[in-house]
Amino acid sequence: MDKRKKTSQMQERAMKTMPLGVNSNGRYWGKKVTPYFQRGKGAYVWDVDGNQYIDYRLAFGPVILGYAYDEVDEKVISAIRDGVTPGITSQLELEAAEKIVELCPATEKVRLVNGGSDATQHALRVARAYTGKEKIIKFEGGYHGSYDYVLFSTYAPPSTYGNSRSPITVPASSGIPSALGDLIITLPFNNLEILEATLKRCGNEVAAIITEPMLGNFGCADPLPGFMDGVRRLCDEYGIVWILDEVKTGFRIAKGGAQEKYGYQPDITTYAKALGNGYPVAAYGGKAKIMDIVGQGVTQGGTYAGNAVAAAAAKATLEIMSTQNVHGYIDAMGSRLQNGLRAIFKKAGIPCLLSSMPAIFSVSFGIESNLDAREWAKADASIYKKIAARAFEKGILIDEDPREPFCMSYSHTEKDIDDTLEIFDEIVRTL
Ligand code: PMP
Repeated sequence: MDKRKKTSQMQERAMKTMPLGVNSNGRYWGKKVTPYFQRGKGAYVWDVDGNQYIDYRLAFGPVILGYAYDEVDEKVISAIRDGVTPGITSQLELEAAEKIVELCPATEKVRLVNGGSDATQHALRVARAYTGKEKIIKFEGGYHGSYDYVLFSTYAPPSTYGNSRSPITVPASSGIPSALGDLIITLPFNNLEILEATLKRCGNEVAAIITEPMLGNFGCADPLPGFMDGVRRLCDEYGIVWILDEVKTGFRIAKGGAQEKYGYQPDITTYAKALGNGYPVAAYGGKAKIMDIVGQGVTQGGTYAGNAVAAAAAKATLEIMSTQNVHGYIDAMGSRLQNGLRAIFKKAGIPCLLSSMPAIFSVSFGIESNLDAREWAKADASIYKKIAARAFEKGILIDEDPREPFCMSYSHTEKDIDDTLEIFDEIVRTL
């Protein structure tokens, strides 16, 4: 019997109406293998054929508590009953904003927006307005959103990266005006020497350095000790705004994200994903003296910004994180999975690197270190894809793209992890 009959039929139907049969490119895995979703509960999702998966993809990170999480959903449903988008500020929005400020040590003032791209886009505008400068620096392999300003050297193949002294900035899509390439400088991650040399040359033109706490969309390269401190120091030296993009790590690696876990002091931070356990909500915030220019010369609108669904979801999610040991639990489950995977690949003699934190990590084959996008690009993507495809067949959902991390939720149980490890062990033995 064909396990994916309905999936194939749905894809055929969807291809007629939506490009690639999906609403976001990363959801397309290819013909006959692209999953179509029926429902999710806790750590599990079911496809339209009713096949069940233990999910470590978690929608690219947002589902921190679990799918259809009653404690959040009930708050959202109750908010919906009072009207979703009044276009007037509600107490719920205020309480969500207060909670973000309470949990995130470097965030004194915040605005709720609709998605991660919305958040980083506004953060960049604020940085440009605050400094009166126009250029931004981002790191190769860093992803900061779906809009033209930041879609450079994101998914470019390594052959186009250029050499380290004169890095080439490569648009990640056709349709991006080439003039925008003049406003962005893309550099290798983890290389303070190149960053410093670049700033010596043109630091007086740079408004912002935007970086993730690790390359969360490109094999989870962690920062070397001192790298982020160096970014902070250079931003101070050259009058540059440091934007820490915590869309993927915020409320995931700790209640207060990387700025709590590592004590980073960014000027502006961007949030989305785990902030609302999968509901569409995002935020950007930072030092009061910078954020206060919003509305004082800096425009920011948004019909749906702070709507009741977003605000209720954020408030409920953050309250659960504040009162329950969500992150301790996730770290324990993530470590169990990381340690188990490490042991399985070691036993099989398959060189494998597990990078970054238990709550969000990458499994990369054939490389020993993962300093930046160039180094990670040498990883063996074909073995990863083979393992991911077999795991999918056996009921484990990880992304088919090796750049995307494994994520953990509060709903994964020890049994889920152990079942997952058993399946990986079997896959590796029969590779
Ligand atoms: N920044 C980072 C670090 C992200 O991972 C993403 C999404 N993957 C974004 C920004 C953009 O967020 P969104 O898809 O919600 O626009």
